[in-house]
Amino acid sequence: MGETMSTDVEGECNARLFISDDYGDNCRTLRCPHEPGHPGDHVVKITGFNGTATILWTTDERFVCERHGIQPGEYCVPCVDERRASRS
Ligand SMILES: [Zn+2]
Ligand SMILES: [Zn+2]
Repeated sequence: MGETMSTDVEGECNARLFISDDYGDNCRTLRCPHEPGHPGDHVVKITGFNGTATILWTTDERFVCERHGIQPGEYCVPCVDERRASRS
């Protein structure tokens, strides 16, 4: 799942919405490209096969870790890496 995670862009809102794809086995991440602290809903335009769609959402679904702060994905990568390292 880590490889599908998109990275934050400096100077943009970067709020995330995690949705399932049509087949339910993958996650697609939508990232808000607007300025940080912008008013209103997060919004992103996505391109389909026959045109574009505009998606609006209200809640940033990024994970907030007590130790590492806000994370670009739905879990904290440094914490997971640490856990993996301590297991081996
Ligand atoms: Zn936003
Ligand atoms: Zn963490």
